[in-house]
Amino acid sequence: MDFYWTGSAAGAKILSIICNQGPISRAALCRITKQARSTMSLQVEQLLQLGLIEEKPIDTDSKAQARTLLKLSEKPGVFLAVFLGLTHFKVALCRTDTTIINFKIERGNMTDGPINILQKVHICITGLLSDENLTQDKIIGLGIALPGPIDYRKGMVSSPLGVVSTWHNYPLKTVLHNQYGCPVIVDNDVHAMALGEQHRGSAKNNNDFIMVKLATGIGASIVADGKLYRGSKGAAGFISHNQVEGNSTPCICGKQGCLEVVAGGAAIARQGMEAIYAGKSPILAQLLQSKPELSEEDRLPQIAKQLPELLSRNIGRVTASDIAIAANMGDSVSFEILQRSARAIGSIMAHQINFNNPSLVILAGPLTKLGDKYLSTIRQVILEKAMPLMTVDLEIKTSQLDDMQGLIGTCLLAQSEYFSFDKIRKQLDANKLRVTKKSN
Ligand SMILES: [Zn+2]
Repeated sequence: MDFYWTGSAAGAKILSIICNQGPISRAALCRITKQARSTMSLQVEQLLQLGLIEEKPIDTDSKAQARTLLKLSEKPGVFLAVFLGLTHFKVALCRTDTTIINFKIERGNMTDGPINILQKVHICITGLLSDENLTQDKIIGLGIALPGPIDYRKGMVSSPLGVVSTWHNYPLKTVLHNQYGCPVIVDNDVHAMALGEQHRGSAKNNNDFIMVKLATGIGASIVADGKLYRGSKGAAGFISHNQVEGNSTPCICGKQGCLEVVAGGAAIARQGMEAIYAGKSPILAQLLQSKPELSEEDRLPQIAKQLPELLSRNIGRVTASDIAIAANMGDSVSFEILQRSARAIGSIMAHQINFNNPSLVILAGPLTKLGDKYLSTIRQVILEKAMPLMTVDLEIKTSQLDDMQGLIGTCLLAQSEYFSFDKIRKQLDANKLRVTKKSN
């Protein structure tokens, strides 16, 4: 669709370019928009007047010409990004340009429900604000991401199943909006990770990619033609319950052989425990000896469901990382557990790749640290099972953002709401009206 560079729409568009590209010169803005400097200047002045952007000299050795860059102003305030995982959560305080000022990681089991977890998150937020000598009224937007299907419009979890069942229909967006007095955006965790990668990671400048989170659970997110695709129920890319051929392990969803119960981090750990108690892996048994007893908080529901008699004795448990350690020590049972997981992930991904035809797949999450052999098996199965046309130029990469893509993406959600095209247009129109009235 053609865009007409007139009035407040042009101003809002310029601001969105500054949000996406970062600090930029007036000359570069003219180049990108193909507009005359005079057209551009009028709108830039309005944005400067509103205090949404500022103009700063570039640090340069060249004294020939003083150059300046337009950047988002920090005066409006700060964004909060909250990224919830199954057993831990991260909270970050971010500048308007989404760079992270400071962040904390805390323990908190999602199955304890929203009231309990949000209390912990609040303590964390209070600490972050206090560390930066900021008060709550400086928060101008909050993004929160969590596992499970999200009703994006209502801002709540829309699934009565699994670890997020206690969050089902909890009015997260409304509760947080009332508590912090700012716009709140709620989204799925992998969707937020995809946005983080698109903005600052491996998918920068990539319009068609799939983000895959390999953790306790397994999820994916699809970016098609540059846009995140959420689906009609906010559950696009929800591959954890895709069925792995020939597997009958029961899943909480009522079906059998779901990817999560075959290949996820909890499934790997569960298979390790089963091998120990079947006497099949002396190396894993030895690793278990060094484990402390489980605290209530550490009891993963998936494992508790499948090995209740073990957990009732409050014993420790091995993790997916322990299985990788044992495999490296030559334990063939552990090696096969990891291979089974990698093959299942590769196989389900091959279907997604045939369906979506991405040019890039980004793998992130703790399971990507299970070793080169694990990752190469995922790659190999994708290449074997997907159509050659789909894989001929396909890149498969691990994330380079060191587990921060989720926080970055969550902050981007808050930023896109605060600087939304319509909101900025309204501000610019109101400002113009103010200036006109004054001059009359
Ligand atoms: Zn399932």
